[in-house]
Amino acid sequence: MGYEYDDQNIFAKILRGEIPCDKVLETEHSLAFRDIRPQAPVHVLVIPKGAYVTHDHFALEASDAEIADFTRALGQVCKLLGVQPGEGGSGYRLISNSGDDGVQEVPHLHVHIMSGRMLGRMVSPG
Ligand code: AMP
Repeated sequence: MGYEYDDQNIFAKILRGEIPCDKVLETEHSLAFRDIRPQAPVHVLVIPKGAYVTHDHFALEASDAEIADFTRALGQVCKLLGVQPGEGGSGYRLISNSGDDGVQEVPHLHVHIMSGRMLGRMVSPG
């Protein structure tokens, strides 16, 4: 099977500069921007620039440089947002929805960083 990447997805268009985003951070291999429909006072998406559909796709097929860059970008965004619990921030949640059960809307890997309110239990009862 394997993954087929749809280069017409909305995040691919953001990466090509075809539609704007509210950028928080850009690195060599990653981009972070604010979610257009925030579900918390702080809601930022971090995406790799490469054509990866899900987190497992990225974790298994991305280069070490891309993975290091993405992981560091997540940390840098948490720092920029002031949410680091170890630095006086109120904490945050990372979410990476994948596929049907994960209810993934956009088929380009993204990690949600959400903070600024008590986020409740980890998943809804269903
Ligand atoms: P997911 O359900 O995990 O695939 O989440 C996709 C997220 O992308 C949702 O939270 C949307 O609000 C967000 N989103 C969709 N289009 C845009 C856009 N143009 N700019 C920023 N965020 C977007």
